[in-house]
Amino acid sequence: MFTIRLVTERYAPNQTVLMRWAPNWTVDRGGVYTDGAWTFELDEQQFPNGLEFKFVLAPGRWMAGGNIVLRPDQLTDRDFAETDVDFPHVEALITEHGSIPQRFFIRNLDPVHEYDVLVVGSGMGGGLLATHLARAGADVLLLEAGSYLFPTHVGNLPRRLHIGRFDKHVWSLWPDFKVVNYRNAAGSEYDGGQGFNLGGRSVFWGGLIPRQAAWELGAWPAPVREYLLGGGYDAAERALNATLPAESGYQAETRELLQKTIVGYAAADAPVAVQYRGATSLAIPAGLFSTADLIMEDRLLDDPGYRPPTVNLNVAVWSVLTDPANPARVTGVRGWDTLAGKVREFRGRTVVLSAGTLESAKIALQSGLTDPNGRIGRGITDHTIRFRHFTLPPGSVGASDSDSAKVVLRHPDAVPGTHAFDIVVEFGADFNQGRYVDPASLADERAQRADWMLCELVFMSYAELREGNAVRLTGGPGDPVEVSVAPVPPADRDRAEADQIAATLFAALGAQPVLGEDGLGLQTAKLGNVAHEVGTLRMAGDGTGVVDADLKFLAYDNLYACDNSVFPTSPAANPSLTLAALALRLTGTLR
Ligand SMILES: Cc1cc2nc3c(=O)[nH]c(=O)nc-3n(C[C@H](O)[C@H](O)[C@H](O)COP(=O)(O)OP(=O)(O)OC[C@H]3O[C@@H](n4cnc5c(N)ncnc54)[C@H](O)[C@@H]3O)c2cc1C
Repeated sequence: MFTIRLVTERYAPNQTVLMRWAPNWTVDRGGVYTDGAWTFELDEQQFPNGLEFKFVLAPGRWMAGGNIVLRPDQLTDRDFAETDVDFPHVEALITEHGSIPQRFFIRNLDPVHEYDVLVVGSGMGGGLLATHLARAGADVLLLEAGSYLFPTHVGNLPRRLHIGRFDKHVWSLWPDFKVVNYRNAAGSEYDGGQGFNLGGRSVFWGGLIPRQAAWELGAWPAPVREYLLGGGYDAAERALNATLPAESGYQAETRELLQKTIVGYAAADAPVAVQYRGATSLAIPAGLFSTADLIMEDRLLDDPGYRPPTVNLNVAVWSVLTDPANPARVTGVRGWDTLAGKVREFRGRTVVLSAGTLESAKIALQSGLTDPNGRIGRGITDHTIRFRHFTLPPGSVGASDSDSAKVVLRHPDAVPGTHAFDIVVEFGADFNQGRYVDPASLADERAQRADWMLCELVFMSYAELREGNAVRLTGGPGDPVEVSVAPVPPADRDRAEADQIAATLFAALGAQPVLGEDGLGLQTAKLGNVAHEVGTLRMAGDGTGVVDADLKFLAYDNLYACDNSVFPTSPAANPSLTLAALALRLTGTLR
């Protein structure tokens, strides 16, 4: 016998390190944690040709780098240090079950209980829908593939501050936790990611919630358009806690400056999903909205008359189940319990897919749903975003050493193809919508940058769905989907106009490039970078989509979708306010 030890305090005691080895890499070999090390007792006779292995952090995080190979004559007791073994964070969905979910998110694994509504995914669409349905009296089960990661938006947490460097802190933790659960087909340019966790990507988003203008909604079903413009957006803003901060002189001055400089466009204070003012004089504002906040607050609500949604974390839904006697009726879902490592089924009178543009399409494809127009997974599109970070030296037009401002500009005569973009300008982009920053760190930051102000200019263009783009299955439910996503470039005239606006603005302000960045020309963001991709389960009012104007799948009586996948165009406006309004509308349909 010989002993292999991984000496570690970091991965002990509430995590489990396993070994897996060649040739069958799928079998877990457990060890024991003793004396500061994960210890594996092995029999050299089992490895006549030596041992090729890896450490794995249960349930599925493989150590990075190559395999560890031991020749037969090296099968003797040996220690590996923590520095030898890195378990990368971002490769896969994290499965954990700490004391908070054990206390507050007790799962109901009963396969017989028939809920009024099963909602798949707790992000922006699903989290809002599940909560509002429960408030309307429905018995709701919310199934979430990920774990309890953060109880609130990351902008409400202690902030990451890169001293002296450009830093959009509001979403600065996104790269640490985003999961890449797809692969690009040849030539595809998608670079997005999933937030597999309670609250989905609503925990990481930027909180900007412009409405779509009437021209952007031209290709949307008329009842949806009328609902959005006729009160739906008002309701969604309330649901996202949007309140404006008290008007600051600096915000007003910046708005006026931009109004004057960007001729022909209407400047307005940027609407954000941030509660600046407490509901009562005694309440602390909730800060940036996320559905993790919403769901957690519901769990803590002590109201005998209210039954919050049951939340089953760590259940990745694979497919929808249909009634063999009536193929137009769904009866529930099947999925994988990542904690127990087993297949589970849940029953519901209605099922709603809210797993996001990629994952909802994946579930629909895996379910082999009847799709009269052959459009499931087709048309995935992310609008073009062009941007430039810039700096304002102290004393330049519009600069401040202590304040920040955020403004949206739109052309009053915009139509698809002409002025078809929203402009967002942030002055002091690293301090907008932010939580407390430690005064000592702030002083250090200011000193390092000699009070130069960090700013951002963004153009977000309207796009029709690109028919050649698609999401496809590559194998079983555990395999990533393949995506083909090509950009939809803005019209040449719009592109030239954006370049001109940027040049005029930068000249008027005396803007300077960010140190280490390349000049002041507009850059094009990678597709999917801020999760605006839409369209895999598009809605249509005339029977040509995947879902109808009520978000119901055409060939089913009780199957719906409620996430960005249902958008029939990729708007200039960021998508979340519209999605929130759709979730509220669907609540009305289903309750
Ligand atoms: C850095 C960043 C900045 C952004 N800024 C803005 C902004 O300023 N304004 C704006 O409007 N939008 C912004 N967004 C986009 C916004 O976050 C998304 O539009 C929104 O979260 C999409 O909601 P969704 O419900 O479609 O998907 P998600 O919020 O991603 O929710 C999907 C949920 O489904 C779960 N899930 C997936 N597969 C399964 C499965 N098989 N079984 C069970 N559960 C599953 C996921 O874990 C997740 O919880 C930003 C996004 C990012 C990443």
